[in-house]
Amino acid sequence: MSRPGPESRPVVLVVGGGYVGLYTALRLQKKLSRGRAEIVVVDPQPHMTYQPFLPEAAAGSVEPRHVVVPLRRTLNRCRVVTGAVASLSHAERRARVVPAEGAPYELSYDVLVMAAGSVARTLPIPGLAEHGIGFKTVGEAIYLRNHVLARLDAAASTDDPAVRTRALTFTFVGGGYAGIEAFAELEDMARYAVEHYYPRLSAGDMRWVLVEATGRILPEVDLDMAAWTVKQLTARGMDVRLNTRLESVSDDGVVRLSDGDEFASETLVWTAGTKPNPLLAASDLPLDERGRVRCEPTLQVSGTEDAWAAGDLAAVPDITKDQPGATTAPNAQHAVRQAKQLADNIVAVLSGREPRAYRHEYAGSVASLGLHQGVAQVYGVKLKGWPAWFMHRTYHVSRVPTFNRKARVVADWTLASVFRREVIALGQLQDPRREFVTAASSGGTRQMPAPTEADRAQAR
Ligand SMILES: Cc1cc2nc3c(=O)[nH]c(=O)nc-3n(C[C@H](O)[C@H](O)[C@H](O)COP(=O)(O)OP(=O)(O)OC[C@H]3O[C@@H](n4cnc5c(N)ncnc54)[C@H](O)[C@@H]3O)c2cc1C
Repeated sequence: MSRPGPESRPVVLVVGGGYVGLYTALRLQKKLSRGRAEIVVVDPQPHMTYQPFLPEAAAGSVEPRHVVVPLRRTLNRCRVVTGAVASLSHAERRARVVPAEGAPYELSYDVLVMAAGSVARTLPIPGLAEHGIGFKTVGEAIYLRNHVLARLDAAASTDDPAVRTRALTFTFVGGGYAGIEAFAELEDMARYAVEHYYPRLSAGDMRWVLVEATGRILPEVDLDMAAWTVKQLTARGMDVRLNTRLESVSDDGVVRLSDGDEFASETLVWTAGTKPNPLLAASDLPLDERGRVRCEPTLQVSGTEDAWAAGDLAAVPDITKDQPGATTAPNAQHAVRQAKQLADNIVAVLSGREPRAYRHEYAGSVASLGLHQGVAQVYGVKLKGWPAWFMHRTYHVSRVPTFNRKARVVADWTLASVFRREVIALGQLQDPRREFVTAASSGGTRQMPAPTEADRAQAR
């Protein structure tokens, strides 16, 4: 790496303020004094999202604001840019930044940390783009919470059986941990709401369908644990279809599956995998056949000395496996540890020392399946039900960044255990200007627009 002289400060550009970006920048700002480097973090969002808590945020167990970590407050010795990196030439050490407002501009740097993560991997299924939603952002999690509760409101307020059935059918595609947790947590929340606040509905009126293209769910745990999870979900009345694919969704929301079944569903959640951020295709970084950045065990981008990458978009050799070509899995466990090693390696190289190889043997997985329900397999120990759920909570609260967020999440859980679970749908958030626009455009005449989903949610 070309080391700038003592008079000039290298600019470290961190692309993405998620798991890897936030933890790397935090460690760099701690270890490098302001005089030694300028750290610039670029992210379209002003916050890091702690994704493992999204299912609990959707279920109302944790406040949405508490699953995100504000970048400007946490990275107080970094320069935070709210915008997206649109393209990047590492040969010229320049990135093109599209800020939240204003014209795009070029940003020069000396050291690059590529941490822009992954995006939903979709397939060209007719109707999917028009009707589906992902489950990767806090916006999607909160939208889904409001949407599911609004469907209960719609079903409870009509006698039309077709409208009811359509509203109460919830379809999820993809059985990885994100999909299973979202499916199970939202069903648990909806069941609770129906049992306590919707006397005209019963849990049996709802239909929750999970479609998985392979023969199993939860590839992160052993087959017996995955089979146990399917049994648990089925016992709750949920419909788990293995070896089944989503074929199409019609204009009027009829879902068609590869097993020949078809049904109307107003909710379609796509969690069938991720792919590396498409930004990589607009860069000159070396990519592997899956579109990930090729990395060395030191987390340096292959063929470079001053570009680094980690997390979901990086093909990092897994040197704990005696298997040529093995790379680390895209999960939070690796992301957080890689970020630590990556920051230490940058500090080492800037100080004229050698970087060290990243080594971490995958410890296992924990997943929550609703309140007091879970599945876990950690260091070969298998846990089911309450112990697994408890482990899920204690593990993630220990991992969520900053003491502030840990305290707030624990406070949310404590309050929820003392008072009842919150099942309020803030449907107005989906379209906040509607009422004002209606008032302004009606010019004082008494015209009422047709009710929307937001109205229905608000009417509860
Ligand atoms: C619902 C859900 C539950 C999960 N649960 C678990 C779990 O229980 N255990 C586990 O180990 N893992 C879990 N994961 C996976 C884990 O969250 C990811 O592996 C981890 O977040 C990857 O970190 P990352 O930094 O690579 O990407 P991210 O954390 O996704 O960060 C990427 C950042 O880059 C930003 N960005 C995107 N495009 C640009 C651009 N063009 N320019 C600048 N910035 C950009 C994004 O806004 C984002 O902030 C879960 C994921 C989801 C979605």
